[in-house]
Amino acid sequence: MKKQKHFETIAIQATEPKQDSTGSVANAIYPSTTFRREDDGSFKSGFIYSRKLNPNRQLLESALAEIEGGHMALAFASGMAAINTVLQSLKAGDHVIVPDDAYYELRRTLGELFSHWQLSHTQVDMTDLAAVQAAVNENTRLIWIESPSNPLLKVSDIKAIAKIALQTGAVCVVDNTWCTPVLQRPMELGVDAVMYSTTKYFGGHSDSLSGALVVGESAPTAWVEQLANIQNLSGAVPSAFDCWLITRGIKTMKLRLMQQAKNARQLAQYLEQHSRIKQVHFPDLPSHPQHELAMLQMPKGSGAMLSIQVGENQKEAMELIAKLKLFTKATSLGGVESLVEHRRSVEKGASTTPDNLIRISVGIEHIDDLIADWQNALN
Ligand SMILES: *Cc1c(COP(=O)(O)O)cnc(C)c1O
Repeated sequence: MKKQKHFETIAIQATEPKQDSTGSVANAIYPSTTFRREDDGSFKSGFIYSRKLNPNRQLLESALAEIEGGHMALAFASGMAAINTVLQSLKAGDHVIVPDDAYYELRRTLGELFSHWQLSHTQVDMTDLAAVQAAVNENTRLIWIESPSNPLLKVSDIKAIAKIALQTGAVCVVDNTWCTPVLQRPMELGVDAVMYSTTKYFGGHSDSLSGALVVGESAPTAWVEQLANIQNLSGAVPSAFDCWLITRGIKTMKLRLMQQAKNARQLAQYLEQHSRIKQVHFPDLPSHPQHELAMLQMPKGSGAMLSIQVGENQKEAMELIAKLKLFTKATSLGGVESLVEHRRSVEKGASTTPDNLIRISVGIEHIDDLIADWQNALN
């Protein structure tokens, strides 16, 4: 029996140039918006117009499907464009279940945009399976999972929730942005699709805004066709250059993320034992409420994101992060550089985040330097 290749090998092979007559080992970039027709009106290359498809997006989408073990993938201009595509695939009267601490702009989109489209939704604590089950009604068509969640790193049982969705006749989608297929493989746990902000670990260098959906074999064909149709008609597609950057990012994603996850674990351990830190939210720590489930679902590590609670309020949290020198104060995550932010002031109105919470995205700098920076700030 032929053994399935390892992730590292697939990530390189799937992103290599296909049928490049120059012999180029690196991928070319095709900025062309349109493609030449033959005299008989046919399109020999298969490409017509770049909103529909272009060579860079085709390569990226096939690579995304391959590394995820999915059936097909769609690339978008941002993670939010991918999220909006899933929501637009629903119809008036449909009901959606989302985590109570889902990415705040998903909650805003449901509350501020899709409420006008008569899409109803319920926010539940997805660590509580009975609560998920109780939120199901006859119109539930989508169960959205985000695990670990943002910014409290709550871990939900993806396999169990996918089963509830299956019994309900709803599709189940996981926002796997924080783990990527390197650390967590929701497709193997029975979900229909996986969503990414590839702006984060896929790109890995904080220089490309983009997103993706990868659908699995279990996804209903009509729904998948609808998603592809929305990608084309709503037009929130990534540029050729963004596709090229993400395709390149896939090649080193595992190396980066494994190192970032290792750094994060060490930083979390350091912060947990410090007397000034009230709480560290990080699933790899045995003190995390869903630690056992996290180890099952993310056996290689729970990622490179953590959050901490310090002092009583925003002022104390801000004063602490002002003293850090190696952690850039900026929103976002997943790049090679370490970032830190006071999450509540970023989320504003929709925020349910504690006032004294600091969110940390750990990069690939040397761990001793990162810990020393915190040591200095906490003194
Ligand atoms: C960043 C992020 C998004 C949104 O992606 P954009 O690329 O910023 O549109 C969605 N979900 C999670 C978990 C994210 O971290």
